[in-house]
Amino acid sequence: MSERTPLPLVFDEPRGRKKPPPHLADLTADERVERLKELGLPGFRAKQLSTHYFARLVDDPAEMTDLPAAQRDELVAGLLPNLMTPLRTMEADRGTTRKTLWKLFDGALVESVLMRYPDRATICVSSQAGCGMACPFCATGQGGLQRNMSTAEIVEQVVAGARSLARGEVPGGPGRVSNVVFMGMGEPLANYKAVIGTVRRLTDPTPDGLGMSARGITVSTVGLVPRMLQLAEEGIPVTLALSLHAPDDELRNELVPINTRYSVAETVAAAWNYAKVTKRRVSIEYAMMRGINDHAWRADLLADVLQSYGDWGWVHVNLIPLNPTPGSKWTASDPADEREFVRRLEAKGISTTVRDTRGREIDGACGQLAATEA
Ligand code: SAH
Repeated sequence: MSERTPLPLVFDEPRGRKKPPPHLADLTADERVERLKELGLPGFRAKQLSTHYFARLVDDPAEMTDLPAAQRDELVAGLLPNLMTPLRTMEADRGTTRKTLWKLFDGALVESVLMRYPDRATICVSSQAGCGMACPFCATGQGGLQRNMSTAEIVEQVVAGARSLARGEVPGGPGRVSNVVFMGMGEPLANYKAVIGTVRRLTDPTPDGLGMSARGITVSTVGLVPRMLQLAEEGIPVTLALSLHAPDDELRNELVPINTRYSVAETVAAAWNYAKVTKRRVSIEYAMMRGINDHAWRADLLADVLQSYGDWGWVHVNLIPLNPTPGSKWTASDPADEREFVRRLEAKGISTTVRDTRGREIDGACGQLAATEA
């Protein structure tokens, strides 16, 4: 289907990469105390540093006046090293959608997007520099995987957004981050440990973490079945989104190459298991591609596949108008086909919505975060 040579799937990051500097957001509250002691610094300062970072959202050491001036630089270097630099910010929707391009310590580039709505603010974060899953319609998938991000690098994207909101830099007055979605660059479940660490930091009560509700967090996956099963056992009720995009193996093998390893049936079974164990409704993501996966018969098949696990409200379908990537031969579905697709799903009792497409004009929408600015 793709004219490009298919990329190999990459699960593990390339070896020999230097690790990002350790940061308090990588660590539990107890580990922060230990780290300061290892550095020959007083452990009780960890709480103050955590308060600056997670509760006051301070990033300028000069504002940390409760730390002794003589020790401040050492404390900050030990637990709050600078992890990333914003290279560029682009705005859309009158400033309520903001995409930031970040340069990490080793030069890797990632992006995050802040979207403010009247009743909530969502940050879309990257979990890897690049991605090894090679989905041919996704901009990030075309470049391969550079490396996994650390927990603190993922958390810092959320904290940076929280700072902008708290400081009133986003139209609508001072605000807070209510939702985090792992829908930026990368496959979150291929960087499982760092992503779980991130979820813990986001939900740990302040000042140990950001004190968010797990219900406001969505982890989106291509369908790494063993990791989906593991996630169900973590005891953190985040929302799981499964990027299905096709109800049949033949097409899904092309659109989401990991399907050659875990079939539609196995993948949907793992999603259903997640809903059963966590009592959280799973979201099925389906990017509507004209003439590729938007046929009426595929809507019926999708509904049947999902209905085979019962209609106890375990699942919701989120249709995403395809965002064509440069040079891609695929485009978004006809509105009439999209309406028919929705109608058929709903006729079979599947709750369905069509995703809004914030940030398209700044390439800030799904699958567009390719950091081509480099
Ligand atoms: N790797 C994860 C999360 C990143 S992408 C995943 O695949 O779920 C977040 C969502 O955007 C996924 O559903 C992905 O399939 C979708 N997406 C990727 N490229 C897209 C594009 N060009 N148009 C619309 N959606 C796209």
